[in-house]
Amino acid sequence: MLPRVLPRSFRNLLVTIFGLLTLLVSLPLYLYSSSVHRQQLLVDRQENLQSLAMATAAVLAENLVERRREIELLAQTTAFRNEPFSSPNISAGLERLKRSYQHYSWIGLTDTTGRIRAATGGQLVGVDAAARPWFEHGRQGAHVGDLHEAKLLAKLFSSDYPGQVVRFIDFASPVHDAEGNLRGVLSAHAHWRWAGYVLAAVVPASAARESIEVFIVSRDNQIIHPEQGVVDPRVPDSDDLVAHVFQDWGGSQPYLTAAHAVSEPSGDTLGWRIVVRQPRDVVLAEVRGLQRMIFVTSTAAGLLFLALAWIVAARVSQPLARLTELARRVEGGESGVDFDVKAHSRELQVLSQALGSMAQTLTEQKAALLAANHELEDKVAERTAELSRLNAELQSLARTDALTGLANRMHANERLTGEFGRYRRTGTGYALLVMDIDHFKRVNDTWGHPAGDAVLRHVAAVLRATLRTTDFIGRIGGEEFLVILPATELEQAVSVAEKLRAAVEGAPVEPVGRVTLSIGVHAPTPADADEDKALHDADQRLYAAKAGGRNRVVWQLAD
Ligand code: GH3
Ligand code: MG
Ligand code: MG
Repeated sequence: MLPRVLPRSFRNLLVTIFGLLTLLVSLPLYLYSSSVHRQQLLVDRQENLQSLAMATAAVLAENLVERRREIELLAQTTAFRNEPFSSPNISAGLERLKRSYQHYSWIGLTDTTGRIRAATGGQLVGVDAAARPWFEHGRQGAHVGDLHEAKLLAKLFSSDYPGQVVRFIDFASPVHDAEGNLRGVLSAHAHWRWAGYVLAAVVPASAARESIEVFIVSRDNQIIHPEQGVVDPRVPDSDDLVAHVFQDWGGSQPYLTAAHAVSEPSGDTLGWRIVVRQPRDVVLAEVRGLQRMIFVTSTAAGLLFLALAWIVAARVSQPLARLTELARRVEGGESGVDFDVKAHSRELQVLSQALGSMAQTLTEQKAALLAANHELEDKVAERTAELSRLNAELQSLARTDALTGLANRMHANERLTGEFGRYRRTGTGYALLVMDIDHFKRVNDTWGHPAGDAVLRHVAAVLRATLRTTDFIGRIGGEEFLVILPATELEQAVSVAEKLRAAVEGAPVEPVGRVTLSIGVHAPTPADADEDKALHDADQRLYAAKAGGRNRVVWQLAD
C-alpha cells in the first residue's frame, strides 16, 4: 500500500522546483568542465610541452654540432697540420678557440701516442691521455663524447655543486698532416654548466611559473641536466609515454610528460632525450578553477533562485493564509469581516473580492433568517396568548349559565365536591341553601316564556346583590338555585336564607309582580356519606317548604 502523501505547501513545492532546476542547469556544466574541457586542456598542454621538447632538442643538437665543427675546423688549419706541437701558432689557435666560447674549460692536442703536447693555459701538457675515450674516438673521426666525470682535469676545475666531481662533455677531432697521416687528436672539454646555458636560451621564462621542467636525459634514462634538486627523478621509459595521459614519475603526483630525441646529424649519436614535464595539479588548475567557478556561480544562483522562490511563494501563500483566516472568522459567526486582502496578483484579488461578497451575502441571509425567526416567535407567542385567553373564556363559559350569568350546574357540582372534601379533611362546616321559585309555571303560562326568562334573571340579580362575594351561587335547574355558604353554621345559614327569601319577595318585577321562593337549608353532618347525600338532605327540606305552603325557609324536617 502506498503511504498517504500530505499535500506539500506551495512554498516548499516552488523551492523544490527551483532547486532542481538549478541542479539541472549546473550539473551538465560541471560534467562538461570535468570531462570535455579537461580532455581538451590535456591535448593543448601536451602540444605545448611537445613543442618545447622539440625546440629544446633542436637547439641542443645544433649547439653540439657547432662545437664539433669548431674543433674539426681548427684541426684542419695549416698550423695544426704542418707545424711542430711547440709552435706558438698552435697554442695561439687553442687559446683563440677557448676564448671564442665561454664554456670551454680546456682544449688540448695530443700526439699519436696519446701524450698531451699542447694545451690551453699549458695545463696537462706532457700527461698521457691514451686511456681517455675521447682520444680513442678522436683518432677515428670527429667525435662528441658523452657526459663524464673529469679524470685528468678534476684537480684543475671544480663543480658548481660542493663535494661533487666536475663533469664535462668533450669534443674531439683527428689531426692529419699534409700527407693525410694522423698527427694527433684535438680535444675540447666544455663544462657541463654549458647545458644550462643552452636550455635557458630556449625555455621561456613563463615555463618556470607554470612549473614546467625541462630535463636532458641520457641514453640509460638518467637525468643529466639539471644535475641536482630534481623532485621525483624517475624518468618514465620512452616506450611508456602515452600522449594526453599523466605519467608516473615515482612521486606523490603524476606529470603530463613530453619527450623528444636530441638527434645530431653524425652517426655516433649520444642517445639523449629532452623530457619536459608539468605536474598534474598545475595542469588541472584551470579545470579546477572553472569547476570552482561553476560551483560558486551555481550555488550563488541556486541560493538566489531559492530566495526568489521563497519570496514569490510568500507573496502567493500569505494572502491565501489571510483569506483562510478571514473565512474561519466568518465561519465562527463574526459579521462585518473585511476581505480587503493585499494581493499581488489579479487572480488573488478577484478571489478575495468573491469571498468578501460571499461572506456579505451569507451574513445578510443569516440576519434575514434571524429576523424572520423572531417574527415567527412573536406571532406564536401572540397566538398562544390569544388561545389561552380563549381557552379561559371557553372554560368559564362552560361553567356559566348563559341566561343569568351565574355558575351552572356543572360548576355547582364541582363546588359541592370541593366543599365536602374540605369539610371531611378539616372539619370546617358549610351550609347549603336549595331554592325554587314558587309557581313559576304560571308565570310562563300567563306572561310567556320571555317574561319567565326575565323573572329568572331578576331573581338571580337579587340573590347576587344580597349575598357576600365569598358565597357561591349557581342555577342548578329550570328555576332552581343553589347557594353554598362556606364556614357557616346552620343558624347563620337560616338567617341568610330568610334574608334572601325576603329580598326576592320584596322586589316585584314587571309585569309579573311579586315572586316568591321556597328554600331548604342544610348544614352537612358526619352522617352525610357524600356531597350528594348532603344535597339530597337540602332538597328534602326544600320539598318540605313547598309542602308547607311555599314562600318559606325550612331547615328542619318534621319527625
Ligand atoms: P311549584 O310552586 O310547585 O314549584 O310550581 P311550579 O309551577 O313552579 O312547578 P313546576 O316545576 O311544575 O314548573 C316549572 C316550570 O318552569 C316548568 C317550565 O316550563 C318552567 N321553566 C323551566 N325552565 C324555564 C326557563 O328557563 N324559562 C322559562 N320561562 N320557564 C322555565
Ligand atoms: Mg321547580
Ligand atoms: Mg317552582
